[in-house]
Amino acid sequence: MQLSRSILLWMSENNFLKREIPKLKFVQKAIRKFMPGETEHDALNEAVNLLSEKIGITFTKLGENIIQISEAENVKNHYLDLIELIKKKNLNIELSIKLTQLGFDLSEEKCFAFCNELADSVKNKLGNTLFIDMEGSAYTQRTIDFYNKLKTTNENVGLCLQAYLYRTETDLKNLLQENTKIRLVKGAYREAKEIAFPKKIDVDENYLELSKVLLQSIKEKNSRVIFGTHDEILIEKIIKEGKYLNLSKVKLEFQMLYGIKNNYIRNLVKRGYKGSILIAYGNSWYAWYMRRLAERPANIWFVLKNIFK
Ligand SMILES: Cc1cc2nc3c(=O)[nH]c(=O)nc-3n(C[C@H](O)[C@H](O)[C@H](O)COP(=O)(O)OP(=O)(O)OC[C@H]3O[C@@H](n4cnc5c(N)ncnc54)[C@H](O)[C@@H]3O)c2cc1C
Repeated sequence: MQLSRSILLWMSENNFLKREIPKLKFVQKAIRKFMPGETEHDALNEAVNLLSEKIGITFTKLGENIIQISEAENVKNHYLDLIELIKKKNLNIELSIKLTQLGFDLSEEKCFAFCNELADSVKNKLGNTLFIDMEGSAYTQRTIDFYNKLKTTNENVGLCLQAYLYRTETDLKNLLQENTKIRLVKGAYREAKEIAFPKKIDVDENYLELSKVLLQSIKEKNSRVIFGTHDEILIEKIIKEGKYLNLSKVKLEFQMLYGIKNNYIRNLVKRGYKGSILIAYGNSWYAWYMRRLAERPANIWFVLKNIFK
């Protein structure tokens, strides 16, 4: 793993820095590159603009590893209110949640009840899908088990899988035996070389191999698949594979994070593919933001420039 990437990922987990860095004004300014603002209303305003360009939208409220179950209940209630608001505005917006923000570390039973309520509300009020993010590898098996259980009562749930883990090939094949909605990403956490490909080139190659399995599943089972990546070379290779399988363009969905290569998503939509943007909001942005810096350490220059602005 590149040194700068491992330092930034270590910083994302450090409790002292977690408390202190968000107080710095220049960092607060710099995060605007990746977030329209801290509130759901900021996210909604930006979503309306993007939806008018036929770009799909997913929302996620930032925060993870909460330490009191009451916080998880607040997050669940926040999402229930948000679903109501999205319905009232008649917008097609999906949600992606983090289990550790909904009490996964504290009570799996309560977390399950919260997610069940959210999936139900998403189905009845928005008629779309509730996605579950994938967090660090300590949670992988538990998240897959949780997802499989949630899926028995809620068809409209989707799961994120990470191409950097060696195990994902097997996980994907097992999950695809049932009709499963999958978002494939490369993976954003600090993982040991015993469980994850340490070299980027191998992660990229594995992503492409897993994409081929997913494309086949689109063809045979009409599966909903989201390719979550900003990697243009990879996207063009996936498009080429899709053409080879004779898949219609709208069956290929590419999703990026707000503020990163959004013009490329616009371009994909113009070319006839499905393109969507995941918008994050909320004030617990520290760990998430450090992972964004780790993905492209050159982003640090953008942070530093804000000191002089
Ligand atoms: C929609 C979506 C959902 C995600 N959900 C999860 C999740 O649930 N769990 C998880 O572990 N990870 C998640 N991620 C993060 C993901 O795992 C990667 O860390 C991240 O997408 C960077 O990998 P990449 O595929 O963009 O490829 P890379 O090879 O890292 O990047 C390709 C190119 O994109 C640009 N780029 C990438 N990242 C950035 C950045 N931060 N800032 C500026 N430019 C950048 C650079 O030009 C780079 O050369 C998600 C990513 C996306 C897009």
